[in-house]
Amino acid sequence: MLSLLFASSIAVVFHQQSDIYLEVVGNDNIASRQVFFAPHENEHVANQYLAKKISQEKGRFLILRQAGQRQIALSINKQTVFVDPNRIFTLNGIRDSVKNLNPKLAISSRNFQLAVKRAQALGQFIVTKMGGLNKQNTWLAVHNNTQGYKNDGQGGIGNVSMIRYRYKLSTGARYLSKVTPLIGDEDDLFFVTNKQDFVQMQAKGFNAVLQNPVVTTDIEEDDGSLSVYAQMNGIRYINIEAEREFQGKGEDHLPMQIKMLNYTLSLH
Ligand SMILES: [Zn+2]
Repeated sequence: MLSLLFASSIAVVFHQQSDIYLEVVGNDNIASRQVFFAPHENEHVANQYLAKKISQEKGRFLILRQAGQRQIALSINKQTVFVDPNRIFTLNGIRDSVKNLNPKLAISSRNFQLAVKRAQALGQFIVTKMGGLNKQNTWLAVHNNTQGYKNDGQGGIGNVSMIRYRYKLSTGARYLSKVTPLIGDEDDLFFVTNKQDFVQMQAKGFNAVLQNPVVTTDIEEDDGSLSVYAQMNGIRYINIEAEREFQGKGEDHLPMQIKMLNYTLSLH
């Protein structure tokens, strides 16, 4: 039996590997163009709030489920191959992710090829369940990052932070266009593809980062993430990132993520 977190949800199974499924809240028939998606199962600070809101109001919310971990474990000929579920939307991203997370798996091996294929199918399964490449839709990713960032000199973890994005932009990172001045916590931010969204978020007093459309053409900047794939397909994308407690550092920023979710729900 597949477990469900919310009473109002259903499980949609990935048939190529039936321990992987989407927990789906909300309904296709409800007139909303907003599709929320949580790819990392261990990042769930605001899931309960969002599920309740969606089931009461409008839109759809998909949570990728397997075993509660950040990575998806692909079972390939009795071998476990890991992939980051936010790197499975382009072939480049999949290959890099499988390579990085499974250093002992030879790139020339059959299992490597099969893992890439399985991951690609999973990415397309998710896209289909999000409504396909419908440009009328907005994709809203829900993530939780960790305190600060790695090598920030303060014991921070991870790589999502306004301070790090600003530093990256100033040192020539091509995947970024603009970063708003820091307001509040460096870990609570929107990462978007749409310039109007960026401008409006800044005006409303949120932290925001604007992706550079160069990610659609520069293979070096294609990491296979949903933001890159959305921009490649002309779909408006908003990532709602807030801090969570991890390894005794930081704390769950639920009130802030609720504020950010309510703001996005007010968009249309
Ligand atoms: Zn995440």
